[in-house]
Amino acid sequence: MDLKGKFKYIFFDADDTLWENERHFRAAEDKFAALLSDYTSPEGVQEMLWQKQEDNIPLFGYGSKTYMIGMTDAAMELCGGQLPKHIYYGIKKIITDLAFHELEIIEGVEKTLQALQGHYRLIVATKGDLTEQMGKFRSSGLAHYFHHCEVMENKDEKNYLELIAKHDIRPEELLMIGNSVKSDIAPIINIGGMAIHTPHDIVWVHEMMDMPESDRIIVVKKITDIVDFLL
Ligand SMILES: [Mg+2]
Repeated sequence: MDLKGKFKYIFFDADDTLWENERHFRAAEDKFAALLSDYTSPEGVQEMLWQKQEDNIPLFGYGSKTYMIGMTDAAMELCGGQLPKHIYYGIKKIITDLAFHELEIIEGVEKTLQALQGHYRLIVATKGDLTEQMGKFRSSGLAHYFHHCEVMENKDEKNYLELIAKHDIRPEELLMIGNSVKSDIAPIINIGGMAIHTPHDIVWVHEMMDMPESDRIIVVKKITDIVDFLL
């Protein structure tokens, strides 16, 4: 498919598209399971954490602070309503490590941004905690490639429509690049844009979704492949 000159704006997802993210959350979950190993199995800990996250995400949004609340809630329940001090501080340490890990840029990202810069207006469209996401964006060393970084409350049709209205972008001028079908691909197709899926080997359970049928979706193996379509 030849997409050259078809778009003005390219939105990039950030977590697991520009830099590694999910693997750090998985590592945090493993540490949490180990912390509570006297109380139940790793699967039992994981299930309780998922339940609590389902309750907390709609209230408090995405990101590691919400994980702190979810882990505390899960531990409280697994410990029978009495949370030992070492468990609480153990959770806090897990979350601190999660929030301040060193950022690893995904291979080929910088090369891709370098190639596209100047040909398209590049915008980061990420979701999660504002402080955390902006901190990652600023420390990534990639900020100078982008015109703007938007930290969205959620990545659904309504949020994307608000974002493009704010920047005077028409859906047909928009291409989105990302690893999540649910957050980066499906809603963009539904509002009339085009999307390139750059799959990551780890998918968060909240992000799992079947790929919609559309001739406005391209799937590539690695991010550098998008350059062939666009330049
Ligand atoms: Mg992502």
